[in-house]
Amino acid sequence: MNILLIGSGGREHALAWKLAASPMLTRLYAAPGNPGIAQEAELVALDIADHAAVAAFCKDKAIDLVVVGPEGPLVAGIGDDLRAAGIRVFGPSKAAAQLEGSKGFTKDLCARYGIPTAAYGRFDNAAEARAYVEKMGAPIVIKADGLAAGKGVTVAMTLDEALGAVDGCFDGAFGGAGASVVVEEFMTGEEASFFCLCDGKTALPFGTAQDHKRVGDGDVGPNTGGMGAYSPAPVMTPELIEQTMREIIEPTMRGMAEMGSPFAGVLFAGLMLTDKGPRLIEYNTRFGDPECQVLMLRLKEDLLVLLNAATDGQLAHVSARWRDEAALTVVMAAKGYPGTPEKGSVISGIDQAEASGARVFHAGTAVQGGKIVANGGRVLNVTATGKNVSEAQQKAYAAVDLVDWPEGFCRRDIGWLAVEREQRK
Ligand code: AMP
Repeated sequence: MNILLIGSGGREHALAWKLAASPMLTRLYAAPGNPGIAQEAELVALDIADHAAVAAFCKDKAIDLVVVGPEGPLVAGIGDDLRAAGIRVFGPSKAAAQLEGSKGFTKDLCARYGIPTAAYGRFDNAAEARAYVEKMGAPIVIKADGLAAGKGVTVAMTLDEALGAVDGCFDGAFGGAGASVVVEEFMTGEEASFFCLCDGKTALPFGTAQDHKRVGDGDVGPNTGGMGAYSPAPVMTPELIEQTMREIIEPTMRGMAEMGSPFAGVLFAGLMLTDKGPRLIEYNTRFGDPECQVLMLRLKEDLLVLLNAATDGQLAHVSARWRDEAALTVVMAAKGYPGTPEKGSVISGIDQAEASGARVFHAGTAVQGGKIVANGGRVLNVTATGKNVSEAQQKAYAAVDLVDWPEGFCRRDIGWLAVEREQRK
C-alpha cells in the first residue's frame, strides 16, 4: 500500500515509525513531515489546506490510504474532500470532527444521550454568560467553543477570573473560536486519556495514557501541548474501561450515527475520574501528542491492518494486543516554551540516546548545515519502555541525559503519580 501521512509532530513521527514496520507498506509519504519522519518516509511539500492539491498528489502517487494526524485538517474537512475525490482516508468527516471542533456540540450530544459530563451552559453573548457564571459561582470552567490550540480553557478559582475569561473570549482572545462559550461545572478527580479506534459503528478500545500539561515540575506553570505522557494509565482498571465504554463511548457512537455523522477515526476521551464515576471532560478526534508516542511503542499489532479495518467498517473483526510493558515519553522543549521558544540551537547526542534503547521521536526539529537544530517549542520526545512506569521513567531520563542540548529543557517528574502508586504497592 502507498500511504500519505499528514502532519509534522512527534505524534506523526511515531505513526510513521509504526507504519514503516508494516509488511503491507509499499511507499510512505509525509506532508509536511519533519527530519525524524524523513528517516521513515519521503517528505512532500504539499499545502495541506489545499485539499484539491492533496487529492491530485494522491491520484498521481496512487495513494491507497491517507492518515491524518492533527485536528486542524479534520475540522477543516480534508476527510470529506478527499473521500469525494475517491481517496480512502483514516479520520473523521468534518461533521464528526465537531466532537473536537465544537465543545458546545459535544456538550449538547452528552445532554441528549445521557453521557456523564460536567453540567454546563452554552452562550453566544457575554451578558448571558456572565449572568450564568454569577449564578453558579466559582470555581467554574470557561471554554472557548472552537479550536484554540489547547489554550481556550480557563479553570477559574474566583468569580473575577471567570468573568475575565468570559470577557476575554467575547473580546476575541481566541478569535472565532471564542465567539461561542461553554461554561462548565468544576469537576475534581484524577484525569486519564482513553483512546478508541472507530469505524462508524464499532469502537475498539485502543489504550489508556496520562499526560502532563503544565510546563513545570509538580504540575505548575502555564499549560502546554503536553510535556510528557505514559501508558497504560494505572488508574484505568478493566472495570473503569468497561464502564467508560458503556456510559460514554458507546452512546457517543450511537448518537453520532443517529445524527447522520457516524464517527470513524481516533476517538480520544479526556476523562475525569470523579467519585461518581468517569465523566467526559472533552473529546479529541485524533491521537494525542505525546500520548500517541507511548501507545505506538506498546502496540503489538500491525497499525496498518487496524487503520484499514477502521476505514472499511471492519473493526468488529480485529483486535488490538499490547506489550505487557509501560511506555513513557519525556518532551524536550526549547527554552522559552510555551511562550516564545528559541530556535536554531544545535542538538547532538540523539544517536547515543537511541543506542541506549530509547526511541527519540522528532517534533519541532529542522536540519541546518547537516545538523539537527531546534525549530519549534516541543522539539524531541524521548520514549522508553520498561516492566512498569518506574523502569520506563528511569530509562527515558537516562536517554534524555545523553542528548546534548544546553538550550533545551524538560520536566524531571514525568510519570510521578504512577511511580508513587507503584512504590506504594
Ligand atoms: P480541555 O481542553 O477541555 O481538556 O481542558 C483542559 C484541562 O482543563 C483539562 O485537562 C482539565 O485539567 C481542565 N478542565 C477542563 N474542564 C474541566 C472541568 N469541567 N472541571 C475541572 N477541570 C476541567
